[in-house]
Amino acid sequence: MLKDSFGRVATDLRVSLTDKCNLRCTYCMPPEGLDWLPNAQLLTADEIVRLVTIGVERLGITEVRYTGGEPLLRRELVDIVARTAALRPKPQVSLTTNGIGLAKLAGALAEAGLDRVNVSLDTLDRETFKRLAHRDRFEDVVAGLEAADRAGLRPVKVNAVLMRGINDHEAVPLLRFCLERGYELRFIEQMPLDAQHGWNRADMVTADEILALLQAEVDLCADDLEERGSAPAERFLVDGGPARVGVIGSVTRPFCGACDRVRLTADGQIRNCLFAREESDLKAALRAGAGDEELAERWIAAVRGKRAGHGIDDPSFLQPSRPMSAIGG
Ligand code: SAM
Repeated sequence: MLKDSFGRVATDLRVSLTDKCNLRCTYCMPPEGLDWLPNAQLLTADEIVRLVTIGVERLGITEVRYTGGEPLLRRELVDIVARTAALRPKPQVSLTTNGIGLAKLAGALAEAGLDRVNVSLDTLDRETFKRLAHRDRFEDVVAGLEAADRAGLRPVKVNAVLMRGINDHEAVPLLRFCLERGYELRFIEQMPLDAQHGWNRADMVTADEILALLQAEVDLCADDLEERGSAPAERFLVDGGPARVGVIGSVTRPFCGACDRVRLTADGQIRNCLFAREESDLKAALRAGAGDEELAERWIAAVRGKRAGHGIDDPSFLQPSRPMSAIGG
């Protein structure tokens, strides 16, 4: 088991398949992009599947989420998903994506064994999308969402980050868009994980503010709080349900005490927290010929050292040197 010194057990593995992305969301990276990892440093598909297999077969991982960067940019994605879904005990397999290209791939991914998707969509306005993501791809994302739903990758979840003065007036329209289509919307507080280090607490639209924006127009009632378990989103029934909306207050309502996540970066580093400042290099060991037992031991040691909390509110907090796109969101 992947147990830390506070007794939390990691069962949810987030795997970044690439640090590259075809959008440039302002809260994530600068318009000119970043220096991407050289291909030789990326784990190969076989290396990814080997590490995921160790996680599932030896270490109690029950959920595998592929992310990035943008995971749809990884050519072997369908193959990686198929090999993950074939593991026993079968893990839940999901994908976090910006949706660009999903219109073409959703069917193949569902057939390969993908269970669910989270698609990021912060605005319903094409001009705002261009301003926010520096690319004119709004229609592609909407087409990706529709294809995911048709392929049965349900519940289709939508992730939205609100930014003050840019899209914070869209909280209710985004909710209505999702309710009309049967998607489950989750708002995520903006976190200090941008490559530019431009995050400013005062600019962040907080969970309380998001709830107030929604409650001005819909009735919200807390749902499943006792069942929340390790889920990051606080969920609310909308107008009596059954439709729901989630709010992930990563900064103002941290859920570290129930965290069950562990991350594998595209270059083979284990991170026990999004905000960790240390990583544990499985790729070097793997490429030096380590056996499964040794890799598992290294992974166990990496999780054991997980801190109690991300410490964003601590005056000594330091943003991790790697941005979200390189860690895997
Ligand atoms: N490219 C994929 C996507 O867009 O979903 C996967 C990677 S992206 C880093 C994963 C999620 O992280 C997205 O929903 C994105 O909005 C969110 N994200 C990125 N930077 C963030 C930040 N600084 N604060 C909060 N969420 C962020």
